[in-house]
Amino acid sequence: MKLWSAPFTELSIEHKGYWRARLVSCILLIACALFFVLFCINALYFKDLDVSIIDGIGFIAASGIYVLFRRKPNIEYACWATTLMVVVLLMSFVVLVGGYSHSLFWATLIPPIAFFLVGSKWGTLISVICFSICIFVVYQQVESQQTATFKTGALLNVIEVCIAHIFLFRFYEHSRASAYKQLRDRNEEISALAEIDKLTQLYNREKLDSALNALAKHSAKHRQPLSLMILDIDHFKKINDEHGHLEGDKVLSELALKLKAKMRQDDLLARWGGEEFVILLKNTPLNIASELAERLRVETSAQAIVSKKLTLSIGVGEFNPPESTEQFLSRVDGALYKAKEQGRDRVVTASKKE
Ligand code: GH3
Ligand code: MG
Ligand code: MG
Repeated sequence: MKLWSAPFTELSIEHKGYWRARLVSCILLIACALFFVLFCINALYFKDLDVSIIDGIGFIAASGIYVLFRRKPNIEYACWATTLMVVVLLMSFVVLVGGYSHSLFWATLIPPIAFFLVGSKWGTLISVICFSICIFVVYQQVESQQTATFKTGALLNVIEVCIAHIFLFRFYEHSRASAYKQLRDRNEEISALAEIDKLTQLYNREKLDSALNALAKHSAKHRQPLSLMILDIDHFKKINDEHGHLEGDKVLSELALKLKAKMRQDDLLARWGGEEFVILLKNTPLNIASELAERLRVETSAQAIVSKKLTLSIGVGEFNPPESTEQFLSRVDGALYKAKEQGRDRVVTASKKE
């Protein structure tokens, strides 16, 4: 009972398959109730064994798929199972009653369900097959000796409506899928921009904080070393004072590019603020991190950046759980402060306890 009444919370509304999962859920629940009622009416009132067997199978199939889907929400399987269930049962009914009793109306439910649940390509194919069967059923009525409920004019109408249905639902599905894709791409762009520093195009402080928290957790859990360095340009104020703020900006963005080019694939480089950068070194012990820092320092001082000579002071440290990420950053910042105090253009390693 819990499974039936549980609200649909497995997926968030942003999830790609959210609305398909909702439609699957609704179809299956309505199908369960409907097939149960139809089974009772057809078995007890009309005493129609064939149709009540279809209703009984429908009830069992719909409830089975629903229970499986709520236990283990695999959207792709559930969409296919629901579409096939609807298609097989409705078409069996249409064929069984030979298109009489306005049973063809049921076939009009197939395109909206198939296009939405299994996409445009399969939706078209399934709709074409089902409508061909419907047209054949109507054709047989027109040709039969019995008093036909459909005449040739009706057959043409059925064909025209079937074609119109397929084109319209194809169009709706294309426009829905394309609008959804545009929205997702735009959202991804916006979230990517929110992590990037405008001037240097490096990750910003927000991204650094979240990455550091995630890596620190991972490192503590898997006992993998995690190191970090803070780099600060020496006497950067002088560059601004002598050449202007815009020239200072150019220096910052060119240095960022040069640092980025020297990073290993797993390293994360971010602008911490002002003329300070942070590099997170995943799976790297302190001795390797210090070597990397020393290499960066030497290489930076050896090359001109926007025709200027720069030197860096660098603090390096290794994460030492159970300390917090704030304590870790503050230890490394302390090492950077010492590098400045000791005369700049050098690397200082943070001791494990400050
Ligand atoms: P130290 O060797 O002690 O680090 O000296 P410093 O001059 O580099 O350090 P200080 O903290 O005194 O000055 C940092 C300067 O960085 C001051 C600020 O104007 C400049 N700055 C911060 N952000 C930017 C920026 O986005 N663009 C430019 N051009 N300058 C910036
Ligand atoms: Mg500074
Ligand atoms: Mg500085």
